[in-house]
Amino acid sequence: MDDAGSVDSSEGGQTDTETTTDTDATTNANCDFCQISAGAEPAALLYEDDRTIAFLDQRPAVRGHTLIVPRMHEEELLLMDKMETAAVFDTVRTVATALESTLEPDGFSVFHTSGPLVGTVDHAHVHLVPRFEDDTVGLSLARRELESGDAAALVSAVREKL
Ligand SMILES: [Zn+2]
Repeated sequence: MDDAGSVDSSEGGQTDTETTTDTDATTNANCDFCQISAGAEPAALLYEDDRTIAFLDQRPAVRGHTLIVPRMHEEELLLMDKMETAAVFDTVRTVATALESTLEPDGFSVFHTSGPLVGTVDHAHVHLVPRFEDDTVGLSLARRELESGDAAALVSAVREKL
C-alpha cells in the first residue's frame, strides 16, 4: 500500500528562505485558499478577520456568490475545533447581512460539502449564495417519506453518539 500520507515531495527545490511572518504550520503552500488567506493570490475579498476570510467565488452561480473559509488549512469543516467552526459561520452571518442590504436578494442558500464529494479545492469552505426568484441555481433534493421505523432506529443510533 502506498502510505505516503501528507508528506510533500519537494518540487523545484524550494526552500523556506522567505516565509512570511506567519509560521503557522496549518497553511498549505499548494492550496489556493491558503494562498488567498496569506495574500499571495488575488481574490475579490469581502471580509477578513483573525480566523476567517470571505471572497467572491471566481465562478459564481449568481451575483454575490461568496465563499467563507477558515484561515487554517482544514479539509473537514465539521471536524474542526468548535470555535473555528463557529467563527466560519459567524462570518457567513456577517457577510450575508451585508449582501442582503447590497443586493436585496429574495433569500440565501448556504451549504458546505465535505469528504470526497468536494470539488476542486480541499480547503473547507461554505458557499453563501444569494437567491433570486428568477435565478438558475439548482440545488435539488430528491425527497421521500420518512419511515417511522427507520426514524426511531436512526434517532436511537445517533443519540448514542452525542
Ligand atoms: Zn488551504
